Amino acid sequence: ADNGKILWVDLGAPLDDKKPKIDYANNKVDALLISHPHQDHFGLMENVRTNVPIFIGELSLDLINATKIFRDIPLLSGNFKTIKPWIKFTIADTFIVTPFLTDHSTPEAFAFLIEADNKRVFYSGDFRATGRKNIVFKKQIENPPANIDLLLIEGTMVERTNHLYLTEDSVEEAIYNTIKLQTNLSFVISSAQNIDRLISVFRACKRTGKYLVIDVYSAWILDMVRKQSKNIPAIEWQEIKVFDHPTQLEKIKDKQFDAFRKRVIKQRTGNAVFQTPSDFVYFVRCPNEKLVNKLRSKGTINIIYSQWEGYLKEEHKNSCTDKINTLKNDSDILFQSIHTSGHATVPDLMKFAKTINSNKIIPIHTAFPEKFKTEFEKGGFNNITLWEDGKEYLI
Ligand SMILES: [Zn+2]
Ligand SMILES: [Zn+2]
Repeated sequence: ADNGKILWVDLGAPLDDKKPKIDYANNKVDALLISHPHQDHFGLMENVRTNVPIFIGELSLDLINATKIFRDIPLLSGNFKTIKPWIKFTIADTFIVTPFLTDHSTPEAFAFLIEADNKRVFYSGDFRATGRKNIVFKKQIENPPANIDLLLIEGTMVERTNHLYLTEDSVEEAIYNTIKLQTNLSFVISSAQNIDRLISVFRACKRTGKYLVIDVYSAWILDMVRKQSKNIPAIEWQEIKVFDHPTQLEKIKDKQFDAFRKRVIKQRTGNAVFQTPSDFVYFVRCPNEKLVNKLRSKGTINIIYSQWEGYLKEEHKNSCTDKINTLKNDSDILFQSIHTSGHATVPDLMKFAKTINSNKIIPIHTAFPEKFKTEFEKGGFNNITLWEDGKEYLI
């Protein structure tokens, strides 16, 4: 801003670069604004000086801490200021921020309208138009913020496609069609923090009369999300069972988790999963090999892979990649990919950009900004500008 105040919007850790150059995280900054709890948006926020205020949603903090609890790493510490959807606030007496809830693959993701020095910037955050919260997308394009000088818009899907499944509803339908015919257990591989997906699986289970089995970590995530919204399944709901793996119970042995641990134990799956496996659908990040081996004589096991295909490839490898790829080639397993992206397709991006009607549009959050520009120009836009990393621009 003109008074010299500096606000950063998101401070993520690069997702695929193993040794990224991140020294910019030590630069001078007056405040930080975090849009949602995905690594590529918050991953470096703890690198700022401890007194720098970090504006972030309460659920986002809970979800980031959930991962830390179950990985045995210290909880977040910092000068956090929690924000709520639609409630305007001021940062450093300079920036007036309005947070808009977006439809994304995490339950609390924001876009921001940021006003300062009589300029208005809209930061889209990560969003889509096809998830369980698509109402917020519809409402936003019906009633867009006016007089925007600059739109910073995500462009993830410029170089990716949603092959078979365009919406979260179609994902639910496909999972339903698979599990209604299951003769053994089905695994659904996804992230517990993707609540839209967990609900799709929950609904498919309810429709087919199956039990949804979740692990202790997912049970904790549900509790955190339920602090904000009671429409989210509770572990006590009759369709839900918890697989109480000892290594996860170990993580919540502290007194503060007593009540939660008791509730988990009450809902434990027990041995029924081995007696009638076709009654169960297990939502996991990594399928348990021991469980697969115990069940393989009982019929074909379904593995429904329900996240980005990129995680199965060498360049985006995580600790589950090898395990999943081995199971993919197992003759006792029927492996299928049923997924839809958390990001808007190019037509939805354009629909969004058109209603925002900004003087200038800058693509961010894409490895293919040139392609973004060409696609948008084909779509009739003549106000796309590409900005270089690390360079200063005046609005
Ligand atoms: Zn995201
Ligand atoms: Zn992102």
